Amino acid sequence: MHKTSGLLEPTPTIQFNDTETAFSGKTNRELRWEYWLFRLMNNPALTNIFSWLAQFSIRLRLPVKWLIKRTVYKQFCGGETLEETVAVLHKLEQFHVGAIIDYGVEGKETEKDFEKTKNELIRIIRFAADKKNIPFISCKITGLTSFALLEKLNLDVLLREDEAAEKEKLYRRMREIVNAASEAGIGLFIDAEESWIQDAIDEVTFVMMREFNKTKAVVYSTPQLYRHDRFAFCKKSLGDAMEHNYVLGLKPVRGAYMEKERKRAAVNKYASPIQPDKDSTDRDYDTTLLFCLDHIDKISFCAATHNEQSSLFLADEMHKRQIPHHHPHVSFSQLYGMSDQVTYNLAKAGYNVAKYLPYGPVKDVIPYLIRRAQENTSVSGQMSRELNLIYKEMKRRGI
Ligand SMILES: Cc1cc2nc3c(=O)[nH]c(=O)nc-3n(C[C@H](O)[C@H](O)[C@H](O)COP(=O)(O)OP(=O)(O)OC[C@H]3O[C@@H](n4cnc5c(N)ncnc54)[C@H](O)[C@@H]3O)c2cc1C
Repeated sequence: MHKTSGLLEPTPTIQFNDTETAFSGKTNRELRWEYWLFRLMNNPALTNIFSWLAQFSIRLRLPVKWLIKRTVYKQFCGGETLEETVAVLHKLEQFHVGAIIDYGVEGKETEKDFEKTKNELIRIIRFAADKKNIPFISCKITGLTSFALLEKLNLDVLLREDEAAEKEKLYRRMREIVNAASEAGIGLFIDAEESWIQDAIDEVTFVMMREFNKTKAVVYSTPQLYRHDRFAFCKKSLGDAMEHNYVLGLKPVRGAYMEKERKRAAVNKYASPIQPDKDSTDRDYDTTLLFCLDHIDKISFCAATHNEQSSLFLADEMHKRQIPHHHPHVSFSQLYGMSDQVTYNLAKAGYNVAKYLPYGPVKDVIPYLIRRAQENTSVSGQMSRELNLIYKEMKRRGI
C-alpha cells in the first residue's frame, strides 16, 4: 500500500502480480521475443549505443530502418500510418483494452508541419469516431506552433505583430481540432511539456475547456505532479470549472522532464519547480487522485501511470466508495509495450483502461523510442520491472 493510503484497509480488488492475465495476449513465441528485447534494453551500455546509432544512422540515411522497425518500434508503436494501427487495436479490443492514439512525430518547426499535424489529428479523430475502443486521442501543443512562441507567451509580455498572428493561428488550429473531437465524441488529451512553456499550454487548454466542456469533458489538461505547485493548480482548475460551469478534464501524470527541469533551474539560478524527492511526487499524485474522486461529478480524469501502487490505490478507493469500475469519469492508461500487468488486470476487473499508442514514420518517432529504451534499462544492475515480469511468466509457462 502507498503511504498516502495508510489510513484505509486495502481491498483485494485486483492483483498486479497475475502474469497469466498480464500476458494473456502473447503467444510463447512472442513472450520469448519480448524477453530478449527487454534483456538487450536492460543493458545500459547497449541502450546507449542503440540510442546513438539510431540517431546517426537515420540522419546519415543508413539502411537500419528495418532493424529498428522489427525490434523497439514493434514493441512500442502501432505502425507507420494510422491504418497500420488497426491490427494492434483489434488485439487490444479482444481484452477490453482501449487505445489513446498519438501521432508520434516530434520536433517539427514550420507552418507547413503545424498544418500537417492539425490535419492528421482531425483525420485520427474521424478514424476513431466509428471505432469502439478509442475513447481519447492525444496532442502536443509543440506540434501545432513554434517553441519560441510558447516561450514568449509564457513570459506574458507584449507580442510583436507577427507573434500575435502566430498565436491566432495556434488558437484557430486548436479550435478546429477540438470541434472535430467534440462532434465525434472523442476526448482530447493535451500533453504537458516543459515548465517554461506550460503556462502558455495551460492557457489555451482553459480557453478550449470553457468553450467545449459544457456538458461533458472533451478537452483534458495534464498536471505533472513532480512539480510542487501542481496540486494547487488542480484546485485552481476546479475553481475555474465551477466559475465557468464546465466539466474539468484532467490527466494526472508524474512528469517526464525531471532532469531537464532541474538542470535548467540550476544553470539559470532559479528555484527548481520539481519536488524535493520521489515520495513527495507520489504523495501529491495520490492526493490528486483522491481529489478527483471527491469531485467526480465535476471532474473526468485519467490516471496516466505505470505505478502499481497508485493504480491499485485508485482502483481500491473506487471499490470502497462503490463507484462503478467502468464509471465514465474514471480511466487508467499506460504506454503501449509497457506495464501490461497493470493494464490487463485492470481491464479484467472491469475498469476503463487504455494503452497510449503512438504511430508515425520510423525516423520521426526515434526520440520517443530512445526515451522508452532508456526508461527500461537497468538501474544498479537490477532487472528492469518489465523483464522481471516476463521472466516470471516464462517460468510459469515452463518455456
Ligand atoms: C498515458 C501516459 C501519458 C503521459 N503523458 C505525459 C505528459 O503529457 N507529460 C509528461 O510530462 N509526461 C507524461 N507521461 C509520462 C509520465 O509523466 C511519467 O514520466 C511516467 O509515466 C513514469 O511515471 P509513473 O507514474 O508511470 O511511475 P513511477 O515509475 O513510479 O514514477 C517515475 C516518475 O516519478 C518522478 N520522480 C522520479 N524520481 C523523482 C525524484 N527524485 N524526485 C521527484 N520526482 C521523481 C518522475 O516524474 C518520474 O518520471 C505520460 C505517461 C503515460 C503512461
